[in-house]
Amino acid sequence: MLKYFRAHLAWKLFLSYVVVVLVGVLVLATATSLSLPAAYDRHMAGTSAMMSGNNMMGNSQPIELELFNGYQASVTEALSLATGAALLAAILASYLISRQVVVPIQRMMAISHRIAEGEYEERLDVSGNLHNNQVDELDQLALSFNQMADKLEKTETMRCQLIGDVSHELRTPLTAIKGYMEGLMDGVLPATPDTFQQVHNEADRLQRLVNDLQELSRVEAGAFQLQIKAVTIDDIIDTVIGHLNRQFDEKGILLDKGHYVDLPKVAVDKDRIIQVLTNLVGNALQYTQPGGKVRVETSRNKNEVVISIIDTGIGISPEQLPHIFYRFYRTDKSRARVSGGSGIGLTIAQALVKAHHGRIWAESAGEGKGSTFHFTLPVVS
Ligand code: ADP
Repeated sequence: MLKYFRAHLAWKLFLSYVVVVLVGVLVLATATSLSLPAAYDRHMAGTSAMMSGNNMMGNSQPIELELFNGYQASVTEALSLATGAALLAAILASYLISRQVVVPIQRMMAISHRIAEGEYEERLDVSGNLHNNQVDELDQLALSFNQMADKLEKTETMRCQLIGDVSHELRTPLTAIKGYMEGLMDGVLPATPDTFQQVHNEADRLQRLVNDLQELSRVEAGAFQLQIKAVTIDDIIDTVIGHLNRQFDEKGILLDKGHYVDLPKVAVDKDRIIQVLTNLVGNALQYTQPGGKVRVETSRNKNEVVISIIDTGIGISPEQLPHIFYRFYRTDKSRARVSGGSGIGLTIAQALVKAHHGRIWAESAGEGKGSTFHFTLPVVS
């Protein structure tokens, strides 16, 4: 019962009104009973004196009227005193109770002003007991407010980090292009097709980076509409293998796929999943040495289809494994730079899989021991 009252602001307010009324009544009753005897004595003493005086002077005003007047005066005096005291007590109780409601709201206002000015550290105290679910609406508001502040702080940190990362990523090819151009102008570098090719490669890398960034911002902001249809996952795998087969042949890597019979259809946006799989199979191609093998397998796990891309490539160390889905993360920065990877592909793939309510993760026994990337897609219900 008490738990129920604690968790509802409306009941708390109702109870506080009852408390104020009770305090008022209690003080009124006590003050009346305390002040009435004294007031009665004083007024009745005056009345008796007047009555005896009147008798002596032969005045015939009825005794009942005198008594009534004396009684009325004493009750009025006692009640006025008691009402004053009860009013004071009720005002004090209301003030203390309303402070309980107003103070957290004032603090919320103060913190929201500070957040608007860019200070994200402060949080509100939650007075209720979270574990027993004894939080009223004000506590819930404080909890939501704190969550919002957390999210804003994270977004702000990410925004700053992104600006830093993007500037860093843009600086490298720009510095290279500038270096080549200065070399050409000073005559230090020969104006051969090879030099121009180098400049072209760097410009190409810049363009890829900008395209990837644009795609990343679109995907992360959820600014795309999924055209969900029932699709056979085998068709998607065949399409991707068809696109990349030639590149695998050229590098001398074997690409094949496993056969899972009776796999149900998945509810996905075909083009987006082709994009995810192309990225993962493309990475496997990039990070596997000639002579290696890449295999795409499928399996079923309850209401999901799991797609696994297994390679015999360079592998990923356990320390690096948790970071590879972060944007711009590359396990070997210099090597990835040379190969042109921007470190955004997996971040985009993750966002796309999540948009399909799926999961994506990677496994590797360590460097040089190959990697496996898995992602799940929902089965058509
Ligand atoms: P990139 O464009 O650099 O490939 P990704 O986001 O696709 O960017 O990958 C991030 C990093 O994860 C890569 O730079 C690479 O270090 C690592 N990685 C991704 N796939 C593989 C793989 N199959 N084998 C080994 N390392 C991989």
